[in-house]
This record gives sequence, C-alpha cells and structure tokens, in this order.
Amino acid sequence: MKKYLYSLFIMFLLILTTGCTQEKVSSGQENTATHQKKAKNKEDTFNDQDKEKLEAELKQYFLGVEEAVKNKNYDEFMKFQNPDNPLFYREQARWIKAAILYGKIKEATLSIGLYDIQVISETQGFISFVVTMGFKNSEPTNNHIQYQIIKTADGWKINDLPFQSMNKDNITFYYLPENVREAEKYIEDTFQIVQFYKENYRWNPDHVDVKLFTNREALAASVPFPSLSGESGDMDGSFKTLLLKDNPERTFSIFAHELTHRMLMDFTNDNLTSLFQEGLATYMENGVKKENGKLVLDKKSLNKAIEKVLAACKHRYYSLETLINIDSYDDKDINVYAYGFLVTNFLIETEGFNKITKFEKLLKQSKYIDNVDEHKSDMMNKRTLSAFEKVYGNLDQLSAAFKEFYKLK
Ligand SMILES: [Zn+2]
Repeated sequence: MKKYLYSLFIMFLLILTTGCTQEKVSSGQENTATHQKKAKNKEDTFNDQDKEKLEAELKQYFLGVEEAVKNKNYDEFMKFQNPDNPLFYREQARWIKAAILYGKIKEATLSIGLYDIQVISETQGFISFVVTMGFKNSEPTNNHIQYQIIKTADGWKINDLPFQSMNKDNITFYYLPENVREAEKYIEDTFQIVQFYKENYRWNPDHVDVKLFTNREALAASVPFPSLSGESGDMDGSFKTLLLKDNPERTFSIFAHELTHRMLMDFTNDNLTSLFQEGLATYMENGVKKENGKLVLDKKSLNKAIEKVLAACKHRYYSLETLINIDSYDDKDINVYAYGFLVTNFLIETEGFNKITKFEKLLKQSKYIDNVDEHKSDMMNKRTLSAFEKVYGNLDQLSAAFKEFYKLK
C-alpha cells in the first residue's frame, strides 16, 4: 500500500485538516448534467417515462459490476469500463486488481454496491456506487463515488468523473467544472515543482497527469482505499490529489509529496521500497516552500518537522534492515512516513544527496513490474535492500550511525 496513506501521516502529526464533503462533487456533476441537458435539448423526444424505463434497465444491467467485484472477475469488471478513455481504463484495471487482492487477504474485505442511476439523455447519465472496505481491527468504511455513464456502440460503459482538462507544458490537469480557478492555480504550482525537481534532481518526466478531487470519499473510492489525501498511481496512471480549499499551503505540500513519488518511480522503474518512497516524499513535502514566488528547499522547516516526528516516535529505534523490510502500512507500530523521513534526512545529512541518486540509478537497472504495489512489495524490498547495501555498505554499521545521529533508544 505504498504511496497511498498520505492522510495517515498527517493524522499522525496531528495536523489533519478537515476533509471536504460529498455534496461538492455531486453539485459539479449536476451542473454538467444541466449543461448537457440544455445543449442536447432532448426533452421533446426523451420524456420522463423513457427516462424511468431506461434507468430501470440500466440498474439491472450495472448490477453486473457488483457481481464482477463479488466474484473477483477481472474480465467481467473491465467490460463495463470505457476503453475510449485510456487513462481511466488503466486506472480501473488497477482498481479491480487491488479489489481481487483484498479478497485474498483474510483481514481485508472489499465490496461495491450500486447506489443510484440517473440518466440525462438516451446516451448519458450518472452512476453512484458505495465502496465498502474493511481491514482487521477497524470498522469498515463506506465511500461514495459518482461516475459518468455513456452509451457506446458496444453498450453502456462507466466513464470517469465529469472532469474537464487543461494543459501547461507536459502537465495535464483534470478537474471538475466548479474547480476551474483552483485548477489554474495548482497547474502553475505543479509546473513550478516539476521545474524545481528538474533543476535540482534532473527529473525530466514525459508527461504528468493530475486529477483534482474535492471529495475525500470519491478519491478514496476511486483507488480504492478507506481514506487518503493523495495517491501517486502507477507509472502510466494519473496522480490524484485532494484539493483542500481552505488550506492552499497544505494542498501545495500534497503536490510536492505526490510529485516526488512520480519522480522516484521514474528514477527507479518503481522498484524503490515504501520506506524510501515515503521518506523522500515526506522530506519534500516539508522542505519545498514558496518564497517570494520562487521555490526553495527550506532547511529550517525540515528541521522543525524532524523534531516533531522524533517526539511523535518517542525516539524509538529500529534497525535499517527492519525499516527497509516494512511491507505493509498496516504495521501500526512503525510509521513508514515518520521513519522514512528520519532515514532519508539522515542519509542526506551524513552521506549527501548524490549517494541517494546513485542508489536509485542502481534500482533502475531492474525491470518495472507492472502490478499493484501490494503484489510486488516483496520483490521491491529485495531489490531495494540489495542496491542499498551495494551503495552504502554494511547495514549494521549504518544502523548504529542512524541510532546515534538522532539519539534513538
Ligand atoms: Zn506518499
């Protein structure tokens, strides 16, 4: 579950800002619906009776999605997704792969329920689902999401949220119609952060796709995960972030965090284990700041965040071997964000940034495994450990230095 639980770390630091509500997305969709209705002016030929009849038919038809998820049937699930929207289609393939995995883990459950269908014309409408997820020792979470549905030559298909898009350089932003202003602001911020990473770390991404959500439930349901603020996707998917309307500074930090994941995926063919992924992402999240319109790496704010994390962790020591092998964010004892941040900061301060780059380059020699993180984390841990030892040498010695550096107990 690497790269997902951004919000947990925020909670961990007790600086969680409140999430957004369901209504925001819905109202955007209604706006779109109204526009489409007006544009089509179908009322004359498509009356209320037709609408009810079609909705009843579609409710029956889309129950197939529920069944496909229940039966963990990849092919059946994918039949309902719109293949003409390749980005969404790839993300839905990831979705069902993750759902299948949760079904295999005894402690985790996932189910989907068809909540509502509304048609606005003979060829368009909306579908709502509730995604229920439960992990051991925690109450199941219900997350609502509403997608578009469209009639294609090959039958009715589920499409993405009613996103619009804008571009700057090689960045594409997907946003809901009511968030156009925010999209304009954050596409600039994303551009600046990418430039900053380009200048300082030589990251040259082919393309960056960003989906802006205003609704925490919908973001979580689209991944799927119980709750999160950002998700960096896979190498050819989009990254998704939650727009915190009343907290632009935090929203900016989420962008710095998620973009770091994208950079690290490119640098390592996505072979880097969660400790270092979350470590550098958290480092950048706390360090990259805007000063007089320019981005800087702010050491003062980094040190302040390190102090906070050390206090929250009660200065507890774990060996580097233990930390590198954390393969699940379910491990409540070791917070991968906190320890990733501590280890990354320690390595940068004592061994320099260049050595991290060397370590990442070594991982790039291993092939990309095209699967959800949960399926490949064992292999990623193995590869990371081997590359790490080649670049940094004896692990026990380095562990001792790590312990000493922060005075861990
Ligand atoms: Zn992350």
